[in-house]
Amino acid sequence: MSSSIYLDNSATTKVRPEVVEAMLPFLSESFGNASSLHSQGRLAKEGIEKARQSVARLLHCLPEEIYFSPCGTYSNNVALIGRARFAEANDQGRQLITTAIEHPSVIGPAKHLESQGWKVTYLPVDAQGFIDLAEFKKAVSKETSIISIMWANNEIGTIEPIEEIAAFAQEKGIYFHTDAVQTAGKLEMNMGNVPISTLSLSGHKFYAPKGIGILYVRSGVNLMPVVFGAGQEKGLFPGTQNLASIVGIGVAAELAHKELKESYKQLRKAQKTLTDSLLAIDGVRLTGPTDAEKRVPGHVSVGVQGAEGEAIILRSDLQGICLSSGSACHSGVIEPSSVLKAIGLPREYALGSARISAGRYNSEDDINRAADILSNVFKSLRKQPAAQSKT
Ligand code: PLP
Repeated sequence: MSSSIYLDNSATTKVRPEVVEAMLPFLSESFGNASSLHSQGRLAKEGIEKARQSVARLLHCLPEEIYFSPCGTYSNNVALIGRARFAEANDQGRQLITTAIEHPSVIGPAKHLESQGWKVTYLPVDAQGFIDLAEFKKAVSKETSIISIMWANNEIGTIEPIEEIAAFAQEKGIYFHTDAVQTAGKLEMNMGNVPISTLSLSGHKFYAPKGIGILYVRSGVNLMPVVFGAGQEKGLFPGTQNLASIVGIGVAAELAHKELKESYKQLRKAQKTLTDSLLAIDGVRLTGPTDAEKRVPGHVSVGVQGAEGEAIILRSDLQGICLSSGSACHSGVIEPSSVLKAIGLPREYALGSARISAGRYNSEDDINRAADILSNVFKSLRKQPAAQSKT
């Protein structure tokens, strides 16, 4: 396994050694509860507040606008359900506008609100995963009190026009949430420039541990709690803070901020090598944006004609490459994901979808080697329609 090449960084990343090192003291000698008044408690609180400042530097916002949460899923749920509670309590309209390609942690709360009588508009996307801005603006009504549109899609890498969406929401005075879980450490996120109300991040997508997330809440934006407890994180995420992981996400944020330009260059190069090599194969089609600048750095997603997603994962794994697929087997039937359905990818490609996502630990040599191996795997699994009908 030591020579395997991990190209599934959109699913999760390795915890950076610098992050582990910073966390260790907070798992041993400095174990206090940040709510305690004694010296151990104060040490824990200091660790948490330092991390809050680091995350604030990454997002160019104030430390008090940063809330630590149990993960990206919780951040999205609190951003939507917590705001819906506020909207209901203040007699605002009950329309939520989102997209058809959101992560389940946004679709889930949207469905819940629908079941509670909210009108939910799921904006369609084009073949590359982009929403239509004119259609979005048309969908906004007097009843719209929440807009939730992801910054970048996890499966097909599409970067949505967040600046324009945020500006329109601000002009109309509507709360705007964005799921930026796939964006940290890859794109500049400046809360001073983009009028976003709330934004979610997840530690394990940018080299911090799993089970720690962030919700940015702009000063003056109101959310009501959805979980009740002892009032930590100003009552929005109650529960004793996950001290070591908070320290870890702080260090990961600091490094992501410091290394953004360098990391962007490395990931764009890896993306180009992989894309050029895989698109040279007959029967392999790009899914998501064709313009690399509009795709998450390091992200490549394709459909392999006539192949099956699980076979791609397993065959690649046997050859030492970890990647993922958007088509999965449910009760014995292979189905494309809702995202692949939303972009209208023909079934013969959608069933053979593959996502290859590079990260900071992939050397240039790894990427070149992976490009060769994956080319052979895709060629061996690709079936032309005529060949398919004979089998
Ligand atoms: N949003 C997006 C776009 C994601 O890709 C993910 C994780 O895959 C999440 C939210 C959920 O984050 P977490 O795993 O921290 O709950």
